[in-house]
Amino acid sequence: MNLDPVRMLAPRLQSMEESATIRMAQKARDLASKGVNVISLTLGEPDFDTPEFIKKAAYDALQRGETKYTPVPGTLNLRKTICEKFKKENNLIYTPSEIVVSNGAKQSIANICMSVLGPGDEAIILAPYWVSYVEIVRFSGGVPVVIAAGIEDDFKPDASKIKEAMTDKTKLLIFSSPCNPTGSVWTEHELRAMAEVVASHPTCLIISDEIYEYINFESDHYSIGSFDNMQGRVATVNGFSKGFAMTGWRLGYMGGPQWLADACNKVQGQITSGAASFSQGAAVVALESERTETIEMKKAFLKRRDLMLSLLKKIPGLKVNLPKGAFYVFMDVSHYFGTSNGSVTISNADDFAEIMLTEAHVGLVSGSAFGDDNCVRLSYAASENDLNEAANRLKNTLAKFS
Ligand code: PMP
Ligand code: GLU
Repeated sequence: MNLDPVRMLAPRLQSMEESATIRMAQKARDLASKGVNVISLTLGEPDFDTPEFIKKAAYDALQRGETKYTPVPGTLNLRKTICEKFKKENNLIYTPSEIVVSNGAKQSIANICMSVLGPGDEAIILAPYWVSYVEIVRFSGGVPVVIAAGIEDDFKPDASKIKEAMTDKTKLLIFSSPCNPTGSVWTEHELRAMAEVVASHPTCLIISDEIYEYINFESDHYSIGSFDNMQGRVATVNGFSKGFAMTGWRLGYMGGPQWLADACNKVQGQITSGAASFSQGAAVVALESERTETIEMKKAFLKRRDLMLSLLKKIPGLKVNLPKGAFYVFMDVSHYFGTSNGSVTISNADDFAEIMLTEAHVGLVSGSAFGDDNCVRLSYAASENDLNEAANRLKNTLAKFS
């Protein structure tokens, strides 16, 4: 007798959405495997290879015999190096016991949410948001409270809206700066306004997701956890995937108050244990480096951003703002809602992404997964050739819609 998945799967799973970024990336791969020449601008992943000196450091770690379990929160050496990085680059003071290294920043965020959220506890999420925040909050038993800002506000909700959304059930405030999917960067002034609101709430902890720290084109990076009134109030999340092009190494970390680090350590100890030993060995060398390759990659992203923006401007109807960081353009495509090419109609952002994949063979991700139904996300972490070709295809395909 076959098991019935509907009876088998737990409610928390039945109500969970699959990651839209990963789903659209897979769809693009599936189409490509059928021989279609697809340009996938779906996944937020640097197209650069991991810098050679980091690969060598992993090899050296393996040669040294770093092939065993590490302590659950990470090797002491890596946690000390992270503390130095936090102090030097972010003006954040953490001790090694307040750091937990995980299998990607994604796990760091999940550890925190599982540690903090009980049934009915609320997590305020600034929208547009990274796809996984809402699902991780729900999976942890919490309730996402979404506060949104549109393109006219550079996609950054005002601190007064955060204040309005706070209740006695608020436990978390989650945001990323530079932001995935919008590329928006919160200024020091805006972060201070946010901090002011949070500081007077008795139970609100901030998850400051700073994974795009090094891909910031215009300003200095500010960590909200460094402000005087934020001591003990912030979990600073970061990782190696973006700045060091190490997505496959699965390494992220968080620094936070001791009680939170202890809780994350406990959660992780029951689920995955420590991250890969030789990834951690290599990460020490990555963090101790001068960031030369990181800066080169940032320069390349900036060049591509400007190229992409100039190409998108030539496509009528697309509304685009200036992303100041990360490697995404989050464009308002609502102009095309209700239009048809005679065989298919674009009714919403999901249709737009779907139709651009099937008709233009360009992979994008619908904004609905990021909390904005008018937009789609395009990742320009791709070659200039691909970006030129993708823009051409979008232009030609959209020209048929009226
Ligand atoms: N936060 C944001 C904003 C992201 O875009 C991503 C995607 N890479 C992550 C966290 C997770 O990164 P990773 O698990 O690869 O460290
Ligand atoms: N974070 C990247 C993205 O937003 C990678 C995919 C994922 O983990 O969601 O596309």
